[in-house]
Amino acid sequence: MNRRIFLGLTTALAILPLSAFAQDKLPVVASFSILADMVAEVGGDRVAVTMLVGPDGDAHVYSPTPADAQMVAAAQVVFVNGLGFEGWLDRLIEASEYAGPVIVATAGVEPLETAEEGHHDHAEGEAHDHDDHAGHDHGAIDPHAWQSIDNAKIYVSNIAAALIAADPAGEEDYSANAIAYLAELSGLDAEIQAAMIALPENRRSVVTSHDAFGYFAAAYGMTFHAPEGLSTESEVSAADVAALITQMKAEAIPAVFMENITDSRLLEQITAETGAKIGGTLFSDALSGPDGPASTYLDMMRHNITTLTTALGE
Ligand SMILES: [Zn+2]
Repeated sequence: MNRRIFLGLTTALAILPLSAFAQDKLPVVASFSILADMVAEVGGDRVAVTMLVGPDGDAHVYSPTPADAQMVAAAQVVFVNGLGFEGWLDRLIEASEYAGPVIVATAGVEPLETAEEGHHDHAEGEAHDHDDHAGHDHGAIDPHAWQSIDNAKIYVSNIAAALIAADPAGEEDYSANAIAYLAELSGLDAEIQAAMIALPENRRSVVTSHDAFGYFAAAYGMTFHAPEGLSTESEVSAADVAALITQMKAEAIPAVFMENITDSRLLEQITAETGAKIGGTLFSDALSGPDGPASTYLDMMRHNITTLTTALGE
């Protein structure tokens, strides 16, 4: 190589600070691991995603740290689930003095409501309209909207729109990434529908730790019961557990599924008293770590449907 050109190149490289390469990426924060994965899919190479509640973490009961506030302060977009999932978020945003956009990924999702009494059931088509019960307790909004693929597609559209607004130069990339990801989601939805059709009607009722699968139940025709409600914050009463055990015996509910984010001792007690078997672990509110079976949203949904149909198909 010509010596003068070589020297010129090294000089040009030397004036670029090392951090410039990282700073090329749009810094964004997602509140929990499932959402962070969706943002990373749409953002691709242009975006650096950090998450607040990591793999196997429970966002219902999270306590933000000073490092989280710094992460939020440095972000250009913050993505949250909404529907009451991140009760700690407003205080964190305030503490960080972040003034950028907070994108609610569930905007446009039709929320499910549930009555928060007794133990917690979620059956197919249970999106009640309580408008005719003026003054009545409307129960709680179910935040776990990502458990249906149709809703995940709404998340993806919202994420793409937010990234394009924050980084218009990346529009072509974000749109292409979103279109490719939406196609994968459609393929996954068809896989889940096919797997569910193969399950007999009398093998579609199961128990999980907390009421995280209402949208899955509504979308794919299953019934989930749980001793704990929509949030893991609530206390489980002995009466709720007793009612659930009675129902499990009466309906011969075949299997109980652990969750990656919750303690399994209560479910072990329930299986001991009912004879139902433990069907495996479902990923409800968080992904697994990178080496686990559910390190992406697509893998999480595949793992859950395989776990359900394997245990229930026997
Ligand atoms: Zn949950």
